[in-house]
Amino acid sequence: MKPINYKQFWKLGRADVNTEFFDINRDGELVVKEGNYQYNLYDLVKKFGSSLEVALPFVVEQRLGKLIDLFDKWIRAYRYRGKFFYHYPMKASQNKEFILPIISEGGNLEVTSANELWIVKRLWEQEQFSSKIRVICNGPKTNQYLALIFELRDKGLAITPIIEDKFELAALSTYRGDVGIRLDTQVRVHGHWDKKFNRFGLTAEEILSFGRIRNLKLLHYHTSKQLEYQEDVIGPLKKAMEVYIKLKKTHPNLDMIDLGGGMPVPFQKKPLFSTEGVVKKILQIIKKRCDRAGIPHPDVLVEWGSYLVAPAQVTIYRVLSEKSIDGAKAKKWYVVDGSFMNDLKDTWAIHQKWHIAPVNHLNAKKLSRVWLAGLSCDSDDKYTNGGNYILLPRLEDLESGDQQYLAVFDTGAYQDALSSYHCMLSSPTKIIAQNGVITIARKRETAEEVGKQFGW
Ligand SMILES: *Cc1c(COP(=O)(O)O)cnc(C)c1O
Repeated sequence: MKPINYKQFWKLGRADVNTEFFDINRDGELVVKEGNYQYNLYDLVKKFGSSLEVALPFVVEQRLGKLIDLFDKWIRAYRYRGKFFYHYPMKASQNKEFILPIISEGGNLEVTSANELWIVKRLWEQEQFSSKIRVICNGPKTNQYLALIFELRDKGLAITPIIEDKFELAALSTYRGDVGIRLDTQVRVHGHWDKKFNRFGLTAEEILSFGRIRNLKLLHYHTSKQLEYQEDVIGPLKKAMEVYIKLKKTHPNLDMIDLGGGMPVPFQKKPLFSTEGVVKKILQIIKKRCDRAGIPHPDVLVEWGSYLVAPAQVTIYRVLSEKSIDGAKAKKWYVVDGSFMNDLKDTWAIHQKWHIAPVNHLNAKKLSRVWLAGLSCDSDDKYTNGGNYILLPRLEDLESGDQQYLAVFDTGAYQDALSSYHCMLSSPTKIIAQNGVITIARKRETAEEVGKQFGW
């Protein structure tokens, strides 16, 4: 019989599905490789306990470096006259261990609220922020948000608020810096957020009816998260370029186009459309349209959040017990010591599918078809892979005293800020693996710490 290639079976070590950093050691344990450094996730979870989140900032750095290089390569090859700027949408993860590497690698920022903008103020006060870094401000502008936008602009930072409606147009008419405007392209796409009624942005007709918009520098749009096809990136861009070209006639300082987020992550470990292909197409489309209209090529901005940070974290749980299931594709429930509803909220909110693999016994020959049950007393706290099943080693094959751990991949985007305290469960411990060193970012809360949030 042909020996099983376990690495292939668990879809590890593959750049096309973002698992190139993961491998299996000789003992069948899951390891992460950062150049010559290696982290053994089985050892780490035994040391720090479960539930455990392992953040991998080096993955963010490498992904950003590669993306910037790709755009720069094709900008040169096509003799494109504008520049590329990556803007990190902070709502994907406001964690310091991701944001600091992003700004040091040459990323700019995008924020959605006054409190996210406060992080920029904090970085600036601690002299960790250059005034060359542009900050795009999306989201509804409360008075507090507007006041901070004006304050940071007056301190000399490149703060670019995005006008989303008529009220913001009026509120920002005295702003003494660049502004952008958000277009609702009204192009239907295949993605997670393909809403018929979009409450964000302004239609092309509305924008063009405003006449001259003071200090207009940037045209922005954002369609959906997790776009399925290359055409879902390109279709809205074509529409936005029509508007850009019209606006350029009356706004000579307009010279940036911002495509927003939505670049997908292969959560299910099936390859998606290629980043290089879409980068080439974006530049070709913009160049061609501008050349035809006789206008200069704009700078190109993207705000790809999940794309950058989702693959940079794994969440690890221990299997506590098993229960049989009758009449389903899965044969057993594995009850785990963490909560999908609390720690991986998208499982519940948008029926997110995850890639799940064992942390130990990756070379087990016999596997069970299972569903996972979370630690909260709630029937919704589960993961069934959409009513299908996942494969994990059989518990009856464990030696006595041995525990089975499992890793959920690509948990670096959105899950932290969406997390909650259903059943007063503590959040996972979070550790950071970087440069061969492990640091604790957050300890699992004690009962007292969680209780405090409820007035105890
Ligand atoms: C949420 C959001 C993003 C990031 O979306 P991803 O799907 O994570 O890439 C970018 N821009 C805006 C305006 C957003 O609201």
